[in-house]
Amino acid sequence: MGGRPFLTDTNTLYGGGRSNAVDHLTTAAMHGFSQLVTGCPAIIADGLRSENFCEVEIGQKRFHRVKIASEIAHADSMIVVSHFKGHLPFGFGGAIKNLGMGCAPAAGKSEQHSAKAVMLNRELCIGCKSCEKSCPASAIRVEERIASIDYQLCRGCGECLRTCPVHALDFDWLVEARPLVERMVEYALGAVKGKEDRTGFFNFLTNITPDCDCVPWSDAPIVPDIGILASLDPVALDQASFDLVNRQTGIRGSMLEKNFHPGEDKFRGLWENTEGLYQIEYAETIGLGSSRYKLVEV
Ligand code: SF4
Ligand code: SF4
Repeated sequence: MGGRPFLTDTNTLYGGGRSNAVDHLTTAAMHGFSQLVTGCPAIIADGLRSENFCEVEIGQKRFHRVKIASEIAHADSMIVVSHFKGHLPFGFGGAIKNLGMGCAPAAGKSEQHSAKAVMLNRELCIGCKSCEKSCPASAIRVEERIASIDYQLCRGCGECLRTCPVHALDFDWLVEARPLVERMVEYALGAVKGKEDRTGFFNFLTNITPDCDCVPWSDAPIVPDIGILASLDPVALDQASFDLVNRQTGIRGSMLEKNFHPGEDKFRGLWENTEGLYQIEYAETIGLGSSRYKLVEV
């Protein structure tokens, strides 16, 4: 078709192997995403230190403007490839989440995460320091065997929730879950702005793990592999992916604690307080796409 494709990603807000372009490209090459293998170069869309981005006007409730990584904003068109899986705090991660968080530089990810929603149950805390070690923002201190959170530094990323062995940390779900989802979905709208009719989406419903791929561990799939879905509409694609996962029988012995039967919400069987479908509802409200779909098997 005459296009000049490149593979892309943005730097992470937390540390690790994808927090700057040099480490990120090295990580990509180690996973086989080098030009010699794929036939096209990898370009980290927000630059060496995640400082390259464009302000994109969207005029929505949470953001008037969002920060989108420069090379994504400047690309003529985009194919968004997402691994569909569980996600705390979003319920599930698919095409919408990959657009919203995946196309934002660290500053944009930080804006989305600024929920300051983590609460500590002091009665449960045993002072083990797992949360202090895992926090990418150095927002937790454990003194006299009790943790405390600096809300000026906390980005609401949820890393500490995942690592606490006694579940002493949790989001304030009633107050903060929906604003967090809305911020992410508005970023997704900004990521496709100007190329709405030149963006396509693939969701891989394989190895459907309980948690996000950004966590430094993996876990057993919660349902059997389903296949690969494609659409021009990220909202329809995520709705279809969500429905297909929930139609499966959950795998016992995985992290799934309940909702094993076909038709039951597998993601709430993992993360009880999440509302994955609110991503879709809000995306539809702000015009990112439509949740209606027709499955065509090929
Ligand atoms: S949510 Fe937890 S891990 Fe994340 S920045 Fe806040 S205190 Fe740190
Ligand atoms: S990980 Fe949990 S138990 Fe350990 S110090 Fe942090 S809050 Fe307390």
